[in-house]
Amino acid sequence: MRIHPVPAFKDNYIWMLEDGRNAVAVDPGDAAPVEEFLRRTGLKLAAVLATHHHADHVGGLPALAQHWKCPTFGPAREVAAHLDRRLAEGDRFTVPGIGIELGTLDIPGHTAGHIALFGDGMVFCGDTLFTCGCGRLFEGTPEQMVDSLAKLARLPGDTRVYCGHEYTLSNIRFAEAVEPGNRKLAARKARDAAKRERGEPTVPSTLAEELETNPFVRCGEREVVAAAEMHAARKLANPVDVFAEIRAWKNAF
Ligand SMILES: [Zn+2]
Repeated sequence: MRIHPVPAFKDNYIWMLEDGRNAVAVDPGDAAPVEEFLRRTGLKLAAVLATHHHADHVGGLPALAQHWKCPTFGPAREVAAHLDRRLAEGDRFTVPGIGIELGTLDIPGHTAGHIALFGDGMVFCGDTLFTCGCGRLFEGTPEQMVDSLAKLARLPGDTRVYCGHEYTLSNIRFAEAVEPGNRKLAARKARDAAKRERGEPTVPSTLAEELETNPFVRCGEREVVAAAEMHAARKLANPVDVFAEIRAWKNAF
């Protein structure tokens, strides 16, 4: 099984999983680049997976489902056209065509019914956990997002993080403001900046790397707490308050 990024819009990634015969699209916001990928590779689309209802993740799903007559999998608690298999926490399923088994986590915060799909050393986490960042809270609370990120963080450290956007370098700039002394972050910046200069994606990262460098999953770390309290100009009682402060800080960064 191989996995390829198909760029869409300004900075979205549609992830294409394939076994040489069949392909599966994750979060196809646009059908056109997926069809182009399928034409170029001669692969057949066997399924579509979606993490949440935003148009830049499901906009291409109806056209692909109609053209390929393939099943579509997505969040049980969100409304999106042409979703026929609805998934919630604890659901496991075999992905048609490529045969891998994936599990489901409910990870609300960015949207109310956002799900993550994980298995085979990968997690597809849409706009919840980003490489060195996290999604904005459009439909959820800081409590929910902290809980959702903690669920993702409990997956094995070598799990590859496939998120929905190429945001790494701007996320790293913010992470440096929070943790200027984090040497792992400095090393990550050098590596990922070089990748972008070569035109390569910085996604996927690994969960272990996120735990070392991503301030949004480090809200219990002393340096992150200190930076959030400095920014808030008051004591913060717990990791949820720390998270809420750095999320608001990032929104205005
Ligand atoms: Zn989104």
